[in-house]
Amino acid sequence: MTTAATTTPTAVPFRFFDAQVVRTRSLGPSMARITFGGACLKDFTTGGRDQRFKLFLPHPGQSAPVVPVEDGEGWFATWRAMDPDVRGIMRSYTVREQRREPAEIDVDFALHADGGPAARWAARAESGDRVTLLGPVVADNGGVDFRPPPGTDWVLISGDETALPAVAGILQWLPAGTRAKVWIEVQHAEDLQDLRTEANAEITWLVRDGAAPGAPRSALVLDELRAAELPHGTPYAWIAGEAGTVRAVRRHLVRERGFDRKAVTFTGYWRLGACEEQLVEEAVSGTGPAADD
Ligand SMILES: Cc1cc2nc3c(=O)[nH]c(=O)nc-3n(C[C@H](O)[C@H](O)[C@H](O)COP(=O)(O)OP(=O)(O)OC[C@H]3O[C@@H](n4cnc5c(N)ncnc54)[C@H](O)[C@@H]3O)c2cc1C
Repeated sequence: MTTAATTTPTAVPFRFFDAQVVRTRSLGPSMARITFGGACLKDFTTGGRDQRFKLFLPHPGQSAPVVPVEDGEGWFATWRAMDPDVRGIMRSYTVREQRREPAEIDVDFALHADGGPAARWAARAESGDRVTLLGPVVADNGGVDFRPPPGTDWVLISGDETALPAVAGILQWLPAGTRAKVWIEVQHAEDLQDLRTEANAEITWLVRDGAAPGAPRSALVLDELRAAELPHGTPYAWIAGEAGTVRAVRRHLVRERGFDRKAVTFTGYWRLGACEEQLVEEAVSGTGPAADD
């Protein structure tokens, strides 16, 4: 399975962008939109859909994150060799929206109760707070995973609140009339969003009603999927969210619904009980859980 760590983008065509918070807005009890600005963001070029990037945050007491000086292929090795108490805290996020005049990027953060450094930072973020983004400089870049193969008749999309920004970007991008069946799991009913699309999309919101997200709750989306009548024709599936749930959904689609494995893009956006540093180290050492078909 693809994990946060294995999705570490190759350096080219990615580079570092220094940015600061220009405004924050609550999107519901468990989601916050943080808008980043900065003159250099004019060169940040999203490919849309599920465009991911790396966000670097400062440690408490630092005014800005410490990141490698070079942008080239070597940035990851350099960052990894730095003192973990000093180097910027690295997390994966999705571009929710980009604007040019002024150069701004919106990022939607799930404010999860487990409170890792990124969720804590987002909950307290204020205008002027400094961050660094490692992001793309060309639209056709390796940080976009939603790529339906030619011949796709309809798409299936499933994700939790961490994948909601990507689902929103995908729905915005889908050509008019594309048939899409979408399941999105969120914490509270007040976290639901209006999602713009010209696709022929049937969106089902699954509300956990305050229960903890992740694998033990994977039955929520699985029960829905098992009961769902799926369209005829050749499907393409995109699944993201908690890694255990993602794996269970993929297994259902491939084993019980006969989806072609190659037509299922699945990404663990986070894993119950593991912080992103652990996922990065597992990916580097090759000790992460294997994808089971
Ligand atoms: C390609 C990609 C794109 C992503 N895009 C987004 C995005 O746009 N918005 C977004 O909010 N997230 C997104 N994520 C997920 C985000 O990177 C993780 O949730 C990350 O772990 C948050 O960092 P943290 O410092 O808050 O928690 P960590 O320090 O990484 O983890 C601390 C603890 O919190 C738990 N945890 C982590 N995330 C959650 C959660 N959502 N709910 C409950 N418990 C959790 C972990 O299991 C761990 O026990 C994306 C991930 C990937 C790989």
